Amino acid sequence: MQGAVVQMRPQGALEVPLPAACPNCGGEIDKTQERWRCAKGTACALPALIEYAAQREMLDIDGLGRTYVAALVASGYVNDVADLFTLTVEQLAEASKSAKRAAKLAEQIEAAKTLPLSRVFCALGVLGTGRSMSRRIARHFGTMDAIRQADAAALQGVEGIGPEKAPVIVEQVAGLAPVIDKLLAAGVNMTEPQEALTVESAGPLVGKVVVVTGKMSGRLEDYGRSEMNALIEKAGGRAGSSVSAKTSILVAAPATGGKPSSKAVKAAELGVVVLTPEAFADLVADYLA
Ligand SMILES: [Zn+2]
Repeated sequence: MQGAVVQMRPQGALEVPLPAACPNCGGEIDKTQERWRCAKGTACALPALIEYAAQREMLDIDGLGRTYVAALVASGYVNDVADLFTLTVEQLAEASKSAKRAAKLAEQIEAAKTLPLSRVFCALGVLGTGRSMSRRIARHFGTMDAIRQADAAALQGVEGIGPEKAPVIVEQVAGLAPVIDKLLAAGVNMTEPQEALTVESAGPLVGKVVVVTGKMSGRLEDYGRSEMNALIEKAGGRAGSSVSAKTSILVAAPATGGKPSSKAVKAAELGVVVLTPEAFADLVADYLA
């Protein structure tokens, strides 16, 4: 690495002000390495992560606003998401400065222990796993244990997780081992309830990825691509855009003029079931408008 080439510096160049404190948390900066970092390391992002986890779509602890999160982090009572579950009413009262608020928070935290796995997993803040991806992961694996045991190949069984994303998730889940262990010890639910599975996954296309190609006909004549996608989802399936090893069914108009479409050729190579629009209409007859 070379130093600054002073003679190349343009006239009137301004000095770049180096930050005196971490721009994120205002804390000290660790200058021992060439690349400066916040001295707090990952704890620097902690308040934001806890606020995220407390949101309604995750742990639903709505009494836990920014001010109390900041107080809990500053007090040292909360060092990760799992610490929320072992807070005493006294600690909550100290942070919220109100016995009444503390009691309500304790109640909400207790209720959060019984939430489905998808919500708890989402609250961990694993990169690339927002709400819908967390739901897919939780449904696919069923338990936190199964998620932890999954390698990159197994994770790619989840719709939307490819070869680039899978190892990143595996690494992060492994890094969260101490947090997940603490959640387990605190009695937080780590399974996706079966009833949620059956209610939201009924229909003839459950677990199936369906790709549509060509113009629909017969009962599906008026179905454009977006109507077909909606129909597939209504019948419990997932619409795919290209034929791959994950495709279950290809809906394709019969080849006219003897030349099958490239998607049909690919489907035949991979052994994917190919249905005519009419045969597919039979399969999802209960879901036609
Ligand atoms: Zn910081």
